[in-house]
Amino acid sequence: MADFSEFNARYQSDLSGVEFETLAVRAGQMRTPECEHSEAIFPTSSYVFNSAAEAAARFSGEAEGNVYSRYTNPTVRTFEQRLAALEGGQACAATASGMAAIYAVCMGHLKAGDHLVSSRSVFGSTNVLFEKFLKKFGVEVSYVDLLDLTAWQSALQDNTRLFFLESPSNPVIEVADIPAIAALAKANDVLLVVDNCFCTPAIQRPLSLGADLVVHSATKYIDGQGRCVGGAVVGSEELIEPVIGVLRSAGPTMSPFNAWVFTKGLETLALRMKAHTDNALALAQWLEQQPKVVKVNYCGLPSHPQYQLAQQQQSMFGGVLSFEVAGGREAAWQVVDATRMISITANLGDAKTTITHPGSTTHGRLTDEERDRAGISQGLLRVAVGLENIADIQRDLALGLDAL
Ligand SMILES: *Cc1c(COP(=O)(O)O)cnc(C)c1O
Repeated sequence: MADFSEFNARYQSDLSGVEFETLAVRAGQMRTPECEHSEAIFPTSSYVFNSAAEAAARFSGEAEGNVYSRYTNPTVRTFEQRLAALEGGQACAATASGMAAIYAVCMGHLKAGDHLVSSRSVFGSTNVLFEKFLKKFGVEVSYVDLLDLTAWQSALQDNTRLFFLESPSNPVIEVADIPAIAALAKANDVLLVVDNCFCTPAIQRPLSLGADLVVHSATKYIDGQGRCVGGAVVGSEELIEPVIGVLRSAGPTMSPFNAWVFTKGLETLALRMKAHTDNALALAQWLEQQPKVVKVNYCGLPSHPQYQLAQQQQSMFGGVLSFEVAGGREAAWQVVDATRMISITANLGDAKTTITHPGSTTHGRLTDEERDRAGISQGLLRVAVGLENIADIQRDLALGLDAL
């Protein structure tokens, strides 16, 4: 192959302006001289050089190129470029897990004496990271109700550097007004970081709504089939650079094999999110009609308080819902235990439907008062709706509901 860059240019040059589904299949691919059609995996920890001089130039940064896979890896780069294209960001840093993504953002953008404002409704380990570790290194942390814009405003201090939120929230599916919170952040020189795990860029692109950085647990919908743990941060080159600095020195980078699985996951992301949404909406509507169900939380139902907002900032409603049965924990556990197909696990973003009782698992550490405040009653169950036939999912849940 005389000029291989020309061969790649043939396939990559006119990707500007193509649609989401096209980027999801083609962005970021760099073919090798083997001319493989599918993306190659490069399971290598290091790289070799042509000469001592080339090695020196690569190490000093004078010459571009791979040195070591904690810094760069071609398979990981393909995933990063593809996800950046889908989120509409300039740059992406892939990480070993979703938590490593959040950790790297905090380490890269906060220092002792800074202040972080977080939504109260964030992933459990995110909360532990903030409480147990950021505080230990002198970062102040305040929590606010996701929907209370006045609370975000009054939480601002002179040293506030970062706002952090998830939308929709887990497990009660509250939808944040991202543009409003982003405007508040911008006006006060604060970075807004959005955990886009529940939606993925197939449904919501926080950067286009005013967020500065997007974090992902690729473990969920980006993989989509429950195989690998990974994460990513997406944003401007300027804001990603400090994140990459942390990853290179601290080391929680993504493995090439996982990057390959996630890259292939992105190819079907839009199709899967549509199928998850279709099933979740049908299940939510069905649940609303069940006599034993007292409440359904799903942002695709007109009864949801932020139904309008969800339609504005999301292109679909997503695959996660929760519902409440009368009779508290005993009744909720009975529903869980009566299912025969649905997986009893707190995981989400899988082809397989999962059910969990937040009050005794993911949110079991909270006090009763904290749970009440978050709307997490003991009768609440969360379902991450998978890709099975909807009739089978309904039949399985009916086993428990009918027994109440
Ligand atoms: C799972 C999850 C995380 C953490 O991701 P890991 O890949 O498990 O480290 C962060 N945020 C949300 C919303 C999640 O669901």
